[in-house]
Amino acid sequence: MKALRPFAKVRALHKRRDRSDKVSARVQRMLVKSLYAQPSSLAIGALATVSAAFVAAWIADRNELYIAAILLSVIAVARIVAALGLSPDSEGNSTAKLEFVYEVGAFSFALVLGCTAAFTILIGTTTQVEVLMVANALGYGIGVSARNAGRLTIAIGQLSLSCVPIALAAFWTGSPGFIALGLTILLLIPAMISIASNIFNVLRDSIASAETSAKLADRMKILARTDVVTGLANRAGLNHAMVETMMSIDDDSHLALIWIDLDRFKEVNDLLGHPVGDRVLSEVARRLSDVCPEGSTVSRFGGDEFVIFCPITDRKHAELLASEIHAEIMGPMRIDGDRLEVRASLGVALLPEDGADTDTLMQSADLALYHAKIGGRGQTRFFDASMTRDLVRRREIEDELRAAIQREELSIFFQPIVDLETGRIRTFEALVRWFHPVKGELRPDEFIPVAEETGVIVTLGNWITAQAARVAATWPEDVTVAVNLSPLQIRAPGAALGIRNALREAGLDPHRLELEVTESLFVEDNHATSNFIQELSDIGVKFALDDFGTGYSSLGYINKYPFNKIKVDRSFVSGKNVGRKSDAIIRAVAEMGSTLEMEIVAEGLETIDQVEAVLEAGCTLGQGFYFSRAVPDYLAAMLLTQEREGDTKKVVG
Ligand code: C2E
Ligand code: CA
Ligand code: CA
Repeated sequence: MKALRPFAKVRALHKRRDRSDKVSARVQRMLVKSLYAQPSSLAIGALATVSAAFVAAWIADRNELYIAAILLSVIAVARIVAALGLSPDSEGNSTAKLEFVYEVGAFSFALVLGCTAAFTILIGTTTQVEVLMVANALGYGIGVSARNAGRLTIAIGQLSLSCVPIALAAFWTGSPGFIALGLTILLLIPAMISIASNIFNVLRDSIASAETSAKLADRMKILARTDVVTGLANRAGLNHAMVETMMSIDDDSHLALIWIDLDRFKEVNDLLGHPVGDRVLSEVARRLSDVCPEGSTVSRFGGDEFVIFCPITDRKHAELLASEIHAEIMGPMRIDGDRLEVRASLGVALLPEDGADTDTLMQSADLALYHAKIGGRGQTRFFDASMTRDLVRRREIEDELRAAIQREELSIFFQPIVDLETGRIRTFEALVRWFHPVKGELRPDEFIPVAEETGVIVTLGNWITAQAARVAATWPEDVTVAVNLSPLQIRAPGAALGIRNALREAGLDPHRLELEVTESLFVEDNHATSNFIQELSDIGVKFALDDFGTGYSSLGYINKYPFNKIKVDRSFVSGKNVGRKSDAIIRAVAEMGSTLEMEIVAEGLETIDQVEAVLEAGCTLGQGFYFSRAVPDYLAAMLLTQEREGDTKKVVG
């Protein structure tokens, strides 16, 4: 419904226009302006008439006619001076004043001219003089009534004042020729009035419709710059406002660009529906508009993102403002009686220190926002230069990653996961390695997030699974392979098929593949995830929950999905905060594992003490540098051979 509102306004505007046949003030002004257009035509007309009057006075040799000619000259000069002095474009000259000045001049000129012509008839001068003056007065009246049709009263007034005296004088003489002239004039006046009023209508309508189109165009321009949901400026509106602001500020001004992203807004839309989502956006918009200082542009940049461009005094002020905005958004809101809480991440860039123009400023704020989001959301980050260095490195990685697979710069290393009771290798975890020709060995922590963001992870992940499965197929039957999967890879279409193809091509039994997923996968609980897990566990693929204890640690999904293993994150084993608490957590997880018949893997075992501690706590499997680092496939095979040889020796011995 809301989306229709601005268009309804435009329709209402149309309706109002259709109904109004009164001339609006603006249209009236335009029409009055038409009177003052081309003062030269006024001058030429006056010159012709005045000259005719002097010629008539000279031929007739009558002082009255000289006086009339002088009077006409004086009026004409006064009018030209007034026309040049009174600018119709200046707001200081009211429409009424402009009209009045014109009226006085026009009426007096027409009256003097009409009376002069009438006078030549009454005193019975020569035909020459009569024709000269009568023709002049009639011509003037007719011509000027067409010219000034924009103001009907003036047109009709000038016509009547210049023609009626002639008609009256003509009737007065009583001679048939003049009576006929009088009658002609009396017929001429209504005919001219009708013509003038036709011209007036056409003029008025065309000016009015030009006005309407101009207003509509203005309105459309505003609409195009407004977000329909929140009424804030949209992206175009923000750009426009930024350009205007940048043009009006001086060199020592400070501005802040604050980029806001609502955290997990998609969930609000998915769970409560789009109408509620829209109202949340409107409420956020209202709060932002309230909290921002005068002169700020608050815009909805699209989706759940808002951008604020505002004047500030200094960095401290920007920090204060950002924290006010943050607090304002996070305050609970009531939508349809439901209490909702929205969280947001903020990225802030300042002018001039973080960018001298709006483009750079936007990039800086965007980058700061990105860091706020990866830093765990719900945060505010101010731009700093290290972010750009990071970005440059990430861009390089992004470009090179695509080519790396073809260039065989990537390889898979394998780290054993060992049975803590027997010391035997049960599984190898496949861990990707990138040997970059220039940058050297890159850690997965550096390039996996880039691969995830750019979507390269799907191709990369399929390649890793295929490679790992191929290597695992060469191992003894009882040794399994564990492959890490990113949430993004799982949600990609055809993800399960990719895994099945890898297994088939390698000839690896699905029971020998284990997929490690992290808790972050379940934050957005969707169908794609459950279908993926279901489809693969149906054919025997196993699932392990990786990095347990670092994420959201809701136990709901442990119950919901068929996990065979839980891998307790290495921060509980060898991290700096290891102590009684982490020990208690490992014990609790191990106990849960034995109840639910899941194996518990302790990650990051580096010392024999740690191995003993986790074994004592109830973990069944262990992984870490104590046993082995991740090694290339031929070394993994060697570890297995050594182990098996040891067994045969034991059996033989
Ligand atoms: P992860 O899944 O937790 O993998 C275990 C990480 O711990 C590996 O780091 C491994 O080398 C390291 N590690 C093993 N034992 C010890 C130890 O005793 N002490 C210490 N300090 N570290 C130990 P790596 O190979 O750098 O991998 C880091 C992360 O990158 C992995 O964490 C995983 O989340 C991701 N990753 C690695 N390979 C892949 C892959 O092929 N696909 C995906 N999607 N992610 C991968
Ligand atoms: Ca893992
Ligand atoms: Ca792990």
